[in-house]
Amino acid sequence: MNDKSKIWMDGKFVDWNDAKIHVLTHGLHYATAVFEGIRCYKTKEGPAIFRLEEHMKRLLNSCKMYHMTLQYSEKDLTEAIIETIKINKIKDCYIRPICYYGYGKMGVNPLPNKVSTSIALWTWEDHIHTVGNKGMRVIFSSWTRIDSKSLPIHAKATANYANSALARIEAIKSGVDEAIMLNMSGMVVEGTAENIFMVKDEILITPPITSGALDGITRSSVLSIAEHLGINFQIRDISRDELYYADEVFLTGTAAEIKSIGEIDKIIISNGKTGKIATKLQNSYYQIVHGNNEKFKKWLTYIN
Ligand code: PMP
Repeated sequence: MNDKSKIWMDGKFVDWNDAKIHVLTHGLHYATAVFEGIRCYKTKEGPAIFRLEEHMKRLLNSCKMYHMTLQYSEKDLTEAIIETIKINKIKDCYIRPICYYGYGKMGVNPLPNKVSTSIALWTWEDHIHTVGNKGMRVIFSSWTRIDSKSLPIHAKATANYANSALARIEAIKSGVDEAIMLNMSGMVVEGTAENIFMVKDEILITPPITSGALDGITRSSVLSIAEHLGINFQIRDISRDELYYADEVFLTGTAAEIKSIGEIDKIIISNGKTGKIATKLQNSYYQIVHGNNEKFKKWLTYIN
């Protein structure tokens, strides 16, 4: 966190320490807020935002599912993100736009309240700390992943993260780094804030979006990169036990990027290290996000 930086709040730049909202904000009491997690990377041609358009589309779809009427268009918000990066003179950062029902009328119905938007930036280098090519240690969570019978899980809504936070607490209190979540059918869905992939016999496998996993932008990037590198992949359900004897398992997400798992429920995967295919994908991903691959430059929005 950088308390010197400015935060965009409903069209105005506010000092970090003054970016405050009322304690009776609807989104705080009833989890009526949706957000995005985006990254901006340093490149030879200046800072560039990775897959900004896809993130903005997902944000607007999240707003739609929560019946939010925004005061800003997609273009306004895109420009606001770019302006926030420029004003903060930052080259490499995590970007957090959030839209929330604000202060006004208490009660479950959010609709009488105005929807506010803010955009904050910070550097988030290693959201789950691992050393070198050592894999994360994880457990299966005892919490079942929420599903679309209860909440629109393809909305990136704060409500969903109560489920994620409980699973992450469980992992940390169990002495490991992260938790893998199963869906209502007992199949593997995702991590608490990342999509999941396994490798078996050189084939990359990830659960479908209909499993309840978020339609992750890193997930879809990894699938495109796999195709580009000639790595075969399948999108199909994965059972819990398949992960225990997989050749490699890794998580993907904007904050996490591509992060390997070296141990699940005390069973060692890939000698506890980042495997061959994850390494290939990681290398390619870093080249792409830093603007060093012509074919994928279309994924970058340059700031200057
Ligand atoms: N699943 C969940 C629950 C997440 O919170 C995230 C992070 N946004 C992801 C998957 C990965 O999505 P993305 O690659 O778009 O960041």
